[in-house]
Amino acid sequence: MNWLKVIGLGPGAEGQRTPEATQALAEATDIIGYGPYVARVPEHPGQRRHATDNRQELERARHALALAAEGARVAVVSSGDAGVFAMASAVFEALEHGPPAWRALDIAVLPGLSAMFAAAARLGAPLGHDFCAISLSDNLKPWPLVEQRLAAAAGAGFVVALYNPISKARPWQLGRAFALLRAILPGGVPVAFATAISRPEERLVLTTLAEAVPEQADMRTLVLIGTAESRLVPRGEGARPWLYAPRSARRA
Ligand code: SAH
Repeated sequence: MNWLKVIGLGPGAEGQRTPEATQALAEATDIIGYGPYVARVPEHPGQRRHATDNRQELERARHALALAAEGARVAVVSSGDAGVFAMASAVFEALEHGPPAWRALDIAVLPGLSAMFAAAARLGAPLGHDFCAISLSDNLKPWPLVEQRLAAAAGAGFVVALYNPISKARPWQLGRAFALLRAILPGGVPVAFATAISRPEERLVLTTLAEAVPEQADMRTLVLIGTAESRLVPRGEGARPWLYAPRSARRA
């Protein structure tokens, strides 16, 4: 039987990938995704691998649907969760605007562990109360909208998980975001830079909003902005304190 599965690969480590995802990847005839993500899928004999450029999401989604319509078992892969700033939306966008016959296809989205959850677990429990996720990329939305959402989220007391904080093509956005947040939040609010979580290059930096600098982030970093209610629990000498959100919130 042919099918199309949109699969979240998790943040990196094999142990943080769901068994359901691993099984579907083994059964697929075709693996489609951004090159570095396809490279994270174990090779299976006879399987075709289509690694594409990062910007070609809709084209990639249409290609995947066309292959499935021709009889293939297609795995479309994303890092983390497939529905968080990732391919699942592109697949449904292509489906909505594509040939009506595609709608009869056997399509499933297999969830994955998103970067914010993998990062939060390393830090303690910073997402224990209300939080939101914002992509800092202005490739797919105008920058003023990013600023509007950041200000609204910080003003409302949400912990903010910032995806896509910086890249070679987007060098200034994170600095602007910190400046905007400093005008709203106290300088002592904890800020965490969680880079390449669950991969060999994993790096965690815990600092404050007053001291946070964009240079601490790269393309593989999830930046977590705390609130005035975030708590730190000191550990032994040289160890990073635990960061957590209390179970109850008080401030309006
Ligand atoms: N679908 C993915 C997000 C894709 S957007 C998910 O659910 O996690 C790409 C962004 O995700 C990166 O810029 C970074 O902010 C974050 N990210 C992905 N993998 C990560 C990891 N292992 N550690 C930290 N951040 C990661």
